[in-house]
Amino acid sequence: MVELDSLYEEIKHCTKCRLHQSRTNPVPGEGPENARIMFIGEAPGFHEDRQGRPFVGAAGQFLDELLASIGLKREEVYICNVIKCRPPGNRDPLKDEIEACAPYLDRQLEIIKPKLVVTLGRYSLAKFLPKASISKVRGQPIKVGNIICYPVLHPAAALHQPKWREAIEEDFKRIPKILEELDKMEIQGESKAKQLSLF
Ligand code: URA
Repeated sequence: MVELDSLYEEIKHCTKCRLHQSRTNPVPGEGPENARIMFIGEAPGFHEDRQGRPFVGAAGQFLDELLASIGLKREEVYICNVIKCRPPGNRDPLKDEIEACAPYLDRQLEIIKPKLVVTLGRYSLAKFLPKASISKVRGQPIKVGNIICYPVLHPAAALHQPKWREAIEEDFKRIPKILEELDKMEIQGESKAKQLSLF
């Protein structure tokens, strides 16, 4: 965890954008360095800012339920956000804030090298596919460079809307199969992987 710890230390002292002035705590992210899956949300909210931990409010509770529905515990996966400090009043992150914070997420991706990156909502999807519309691409794994990105809706958006709740639950249910396919591809090698229908 040495590399992650030093990254967290840097984030703790970050003053690269205006959000450091209003934050209570930065929220770098958490999870094991060898996590196979990385979940990326948008930005810390009220509870996350208080506790310095990602997804600990209502959306986080729902995320825990979704993880449990596919046999995963929160401790087994890596969870972070596009930006590491709470925007005042939970407003949407601004372009310059996302840009200032991007190198931290890039380093998390480099250190953890997740097999699968699950983007939660449109801000994290935009990191990998800036032009994609979430309603069109959700629920389909997409290879972006050397990253396999799996876009799903944001749990906060899906929580109280039956239609979207069903959609996110369905999309989560596909994750074990996708991981299984990715494992198979690793065994069979890149050339064989191209023959599989996953991408
Ligand atoms: N919403 C997010 O996008 N991230 C959090 O950490 C909490 C809520």
